[in-house]
Amino acid sequence: MKTIFEKSNGIDGISLCDNTDDISFLNSKFLRSEKAALPQLSELEVLRHYKELSDMNFCIEKGFYPLGSCTMKYNPKVNELLANLEGFTNLHPDMADEDCQGALELMYKLQESLKKITGMDAITLQPAAGAHGELTGMMVIKKYFEVKGENRKKVIIPDSAHGTNPASAHLCGFDIIPVASNEKGQVDIDALKLILDEDVAAIMMTNPNTLGIFEENVLEISKLLHDNGSLLYYDGANFNAIMGYTNPKLMGFDVVHLNLHKTFATPHGGGGPGAGPVAVVEKLKDYLPVPVVEFDGDKYYRNYNLEHSIGQVKSFCGNFGVLVKAYAYILMMGNNLKKASENAVLNANYLKEKLKNAYLLPYDEPCMHEFVLSGDRQKECGVSTLNIAKSLMDENTHPPTVYFPLIVHEAMMIEPTESETKERLDDFVEVMLKIADEAKLNPEKLMSAPHTTPVKRIDETLAARKPDLKFKLEK
Ligand SMILES: *Cc1c(COP(=O)(O)O)cnc(C)c1O
Repeated sequence: MKTIFEKSNGIDGISLCDNTDDISFLNSKFLRSEKAALPQLSELEVLRHYKELSDMNFCIEKGFYPLGSCTMKYNPKVNELLANLEGFTNLHPDMADEDCQGALELMYKLQESLKKITGMDAITLQPAAGAHGELTGMMVIKKYFEVKGENRKKVIIPDSAHGTNPASAHLCGFDIIPVASNEKGQVDIDALKLILDEDVAAIMMTNPNTLGIFEENVLEISKLLHDNGSLLYYDGANFNAIMGYTNPKLMGFDVVHLNLHKTFATPHGGGGPGAGPVAVVEKLKDYLPVPVVEFDGDKYYRNYNLEHSIGQVKSFCGNFGVLVKAYAYILMMGNNLKKASENAVLNANYLKEKLKNAYLLPYDEPCMHEFVLSGDRQKECGVSTLNIAKSLMDENTHPPTVYFPLIVHEAMMIEPTESETKERLDDFVEVMLKIADEAKLNPEKLMSAPHTTPVKRIDETLAARKPDLKFKLEK
């Protein structure tokens, strides 16, 4: 497909006003000497161009999107409408508190809801994403020990963890100590005991973990860590499995981040914006970034005075539009948040049971909101997990997350979410079984997939080593 610059044919639009603005006050060194090289096309051709582009894209409105660890659920469109209300979009974050009571009330009430959902005592809405929340949480933990006069250097992270966990802890200056998983896909307690010493600041855990398995020994782990004077960090990026059933506080965690753009209905996958609120227990409350939104019984206000605050991690109060959507979603769902988790878990277990004969299921345990298959059997026919992923694209299905978590060979991490019907799940099962059959009968077809997408196989090594991101118009 041609770019809009290549399609440009010099057609001029009409201007509704005379272009006679006096710009002589501008310093001439900032003015162009030539016309900006903007594409020129008729309105109809512009519309066709962008429609054609959007048709090449895959999105949740087009088909099933079982991207494990990413919770690609359907996000009600009414949330967009609410986030676009003029009363919100015309606000400036520098306005005085008394002039934006509505926005502050919304943030305060969202804070209260998320505190209830996580069981925690205090929260910041400021971080812009999950990884940013992790960094914020680890900065809080670091400062907490600094103020206590303890110089703890280590953070323990299970080998199944999301890659952002070690990255965030490392960025805060911690040394990463990995802990192995046992045969049930859970943290190996004996291995944990061996590495636990007075230098350990915290453990970062995901529960259910990235295999989609609930850590049964989480209470024992939290006791071990707390007895050691250490803290527990909960990666709550995927909260979809537990909402209303349990929470990180009950499991003994001290700090948790949530991904509003996964669990709480903000579309993602296009690169944002997102929000990664961080909630903490009482003793860490004064370490949160400022401002936090508070209520004095009469007015809502931004509080910049927290004794040990780590400072600001993002401008103002964070990505406000995302907060509006999350709050609308939570209000709309009410007690049905619990039902969402129930259905997310049911859907994942349904798919797991339907697929576990055709594909290897390395940890055959009841799963939570997601599960991980291995493509090892198909690999014996020469068909890799990458080939399976590419073949799914020919079937109008987004591939699952592949090659993660790292502890499973040829991993395929599947998360259907609660927003899919049984019919849609059955379609996916049918497609996956067809691919498993083809791996035996016609592996070449899978190895050269995709055949029907606008972009076929790309040279991934070349793309990574020599990215060519600039478009140059041939004159
Ligand atoms: C998505 C995810 C993250 C990172 O969140 P971002 O918003 O992408 O930074 C961290 N941990 C887990 C388990 C995740 O699934």
